[in-house]
Amino acid sequence: MTVDGTGNGRPLDALRAAGNLFGGPEPDPAGDAGHPDPPGRVGFFTDTSVCIGCKACEVACKEWNAIPEDGLALSGMSYDNTGALGASTWRHVAFIEQGPPAPDGRTELPLADTGSGGTPDAAPAGAGGDLRWLMSSDVCKHCTHAACLDVCPTGSLFRTEFGTVVVQEDICNGCGYCVPACPYGVIEQRPSDGRAFKCTLCYDRLSAGQEPACAKACPTESIQFGPLDELRERAAVRVDQLHRAGVEGARLYGHDPEDGVGGDGAFFLLLDEPEVYGLPPDPVVTTRDLPAMWRHASYAALSLLGSFALSFALDAVTGKTGPTRRPAGRGRS
Ligand code: SF4
Ligand code: SF4
Ligand code: SF4
Repeated sequence: MTVDGTGNGRPLDALRAAGNLFGGPEPDPAGDAGHPDPPGRVGFFTDTSVCIGCKACEVACKEWNAIPEDGLALSGMSYDNTGALGASTWRHVAFIEQGPPAPDGRTELPLADTGSGGTPDAAPAGAGGDLRWLMSSDVCKHCTHAACLDVCPTGSLFRTEFGTVVVQEDICNGCGYCVPACPYGVIEQRPSDGRAFKCTLCYDRLSAGQEPACAKACPTESIQFGPLDELRERAAVRVDQLHRAGVEGARLYGHDPEDGVGGDGAFFLLLDEPEVYGLPPDPVVTTRDLPAMWRHASYAALSLLGSFALSFALDAVTGKTGPTRRPAGRGRS
């Protein structure tokens, strides 16, 4: 059996035979990473239709993993104070306000009428009728084909027995190769020391038979953790339920094993286009084209060698084996 050079113990022969070394469906990523008798792939189904934006998931993640604070800056345009996933934000709750734009370009939010006694009344009928507030708790996708892991030269990023992707901070050398490799812009180097960090899907908790801290803390079960196959079935039922309730925009994102990353271990139910949530509409594992690139590079090297060989052969035939000498007696006097 041939094993790949990424330190992940992946049996290349088996993957090549299946045609899915860097893309396509991969039913057993943990087994193919070399884990004997893995327990079954687990992941997240995040149902954004029931997220209330409480950020308990963000706080639980920070607390459990002892992640440093990351600025606590409010933009003044949104309740989103973390902005994006990053080295110190492994869960990020996005707030997307959709409504009629005001003249200054901002989204116009309806304000409650405080009445004469200063007691807030309900917003006037019709106000906010066109307003929609989307909230979504984003996280590392724990891709089936994870480019971050493919390019890591130290083995700091590895595939666990649960099929998740984990980065080990004591092995990361800070080269940063994984950062541009991630098609979702998830993993980031911490400016203070250069090492890369991201969600570990609470590998320590999974190993102890516990569910991840963020899923445990979520009060609405927007973040659901469990065996990936079961989550996919549950998600299909939920989308159907929402469609029957008239929520036509409900759709799944990252659930399809046929997509460009072989499906995500953390997938989502969205209420609008992925771009609205800042997610790429059609992500592709960035290492997918590596075999073709190496093949083309080999062809180029071979043709260069062939050209050298041909030119030496022609020189040998015509007798020009060295620099042309100036005939004697014809130099300048
Ligand atoms: S989302 Fe990015 S960081 Fe997470 S496993 Fe996929 S490639 Fe790696
Ligand atoms: S699974 Fe664990 S590490 Fe990942 S976002 Fe949730 S709490 Fe944080
Ligand atoms: S804890 Fe649950 S409801 Fe609260 S922001 Fe996170 S995903 Fe949304």
